[in-house]
Amino acid sequence: MVPGRGGEYRGLDTGVMEFADDFGHIVHLQPRAVERPRDAADIVRVLEHAKRERINVAARGRGHSVFGQCQVDDGIVLDMSGLAGIEVNGDTARVGAGVSWGDVLRATVPLGLAPPVLTDYVGLSVGGTLSVGGIGATSFRFGAQTDQVRAMTVVTGTGEIVECSATRERGLFDAVRAGLGQIGIVTRVDLPLIAVPEQVRHYRIPYPTIDELLSALERFVAERKFDQLSGVGVIDPDGHWTYHIDAVFEGVGEGLGKAGLDVAGVDITPASYLEYGTRLDAAIEQWRTAGLFDAPHPWLDVFVPGPALRGFARTVVRSLGPRDLGTDGAMILIYPIAESSTPLLPIQAGRGYLFDVLRCNVGASSERVDELLRDNRSLYEAAMQVGGTLYPISAVCMSTQDWQRHFGSQWGPLQRAKQQFDPHGIIGSNYRAPWPRS
Ligand SMILES: Cc1cc2nc3c(=O)[nH]c(=O)nc-3n(C[C@H](O)[C@H](O)[C@H](O)COP(=O)(O)OP(=O)(O)OC[C@H]3O[C@@H](n4cnc5c(N)ncnc54)[C@H](O)[C@@H]3O)c2cc1C
Repeated sequence: MVPGRGGEYRGLDTGVMEFADDFGHIVHLQPRAVERPRDAADIVRVLEHAKRERINVAARGRGHSVFGQCQVDDGIVLDMSGLAGIEVNGDTARVGAGVSWGDVLRATVPLGLAPPVLTDYVGLSVGGTLSVGGIGATSFRFGAQTDQVRAMTVVTGTGEIVECSATRERGLFDAVRAGLGQIGIVTRVDLPLIAVPEQVRHYRIPYPTIDELLSALERFVAERKFDQLSGVGVIDPDGHWTYHIDAVFEGVGEGLGKAGLDVAGVDITPASYLEYGTRLDAAIEQWRTAGLFDAPHPWLDVFVPGPALRGFARTVVRSLGPRDLGTDGAMILIYPIAESSTPLLPIQAGRGYLFDVLRCNVGASSERVDELLRDNRSLYEAAMQVGGTLYPISAVCMSTQDWQRHFGSQWGPLQRAKQQFDPHGIIGSNYRAPWPRS
């Protein structure tokens, strides 16, 4: 137990087992304890204790990782849900790192404001997505969520509470955004807000082939007629693929005319901005009820350069059958992304795409999951061959050499940041580069 702590402590007998699991249900690492800090000072105390005990500390936002990214073997998990609070001041929201993006939306949309980039599912924590990147349907306009952060408060491995931004403590700011929770614990974030309308129109536009979907996606990105864009593919039990684009026009006025679309076959759904932003909450609840939430989710997520997208997409679609992807709660998702300014986020220069293989393998044995992990590795290598990189929310086993290649020119700066901000190697889950420990 951490002496002098202010947060809540849970020992092994009082239900930490949920912290030895995540949305992937593949990796299970049992922590020694779980702490629910209420503020940065609580985290400092936990880190001091961990340093004395020579154990690791990993933050957990909402546990929606799929491969143990928020788990730590025999260490302390920080349940960040106590780091709450949302204050809106002009065009900035100051939020606790444990709040969800849905909480942020519910606080800002009534004021006609929202963060520029939202993940599709907004039940993820702000600290959790900023530790990986955060890509959504507006990323072709605004990049990743990590590109859009104004400032952060971080507790470093040396127990300092540091405010950082692009103009202050830049080294820490650059190492924490998309830093996979390895450099510091984020406690508070300043997010920019942009004006949003009350209403949106959602167009669900079907395509017979992946090639036609990709052509349309490229065209929509170039034409800028829609405000939100993503491509979706699902497979039925007979192996037949269907594709559509989810395109959103923010506002009510020009609608289809602005989009210049043939209306045939297109589902058009008007919704309030908030309803649309939180639309997956209900779907996720249905997944829970249907048992899909508890199935293994060996997801693969890669960034692919624009010119290579078509070839890579064909490879994926050819290689996946219904048993590989799953037919319920499973899909491929494609997001166009603008160039990113986050140093640790390996999105290619120019137009890049996030390509998600969101598997849901109901009833899969652990041997079958191992096969799917090997498939992920093959697809990851296929992506690398065409200049692609890993989005490390994935279920892919990584060696030290893999991490080195993954971070490329950022490997040196990241090592130096680790040495500077967490010299005793306390912070981080087991899914990471093996840092030297002093
Ligand atoms: C249903 C679903 C939908 C998703 N949709 C999208 C999407 O649209 N776009 C997208 O980009 N991703 C998406 N993801 C992936 C998701 O963004 C990442 O897995 C994210 O890290 C999960 O957030 P979380 O709050 O659950 O974090 P956790 O899984 O709890 O933690 C993830 C990582 O962040 C670290 N971390 C968490 N909080 C902090 C903190 N305060 N300080 C430092 N480190 C911290 C953890 O240690 C861990 O390394 C989705 C995942 C799921 C399951």
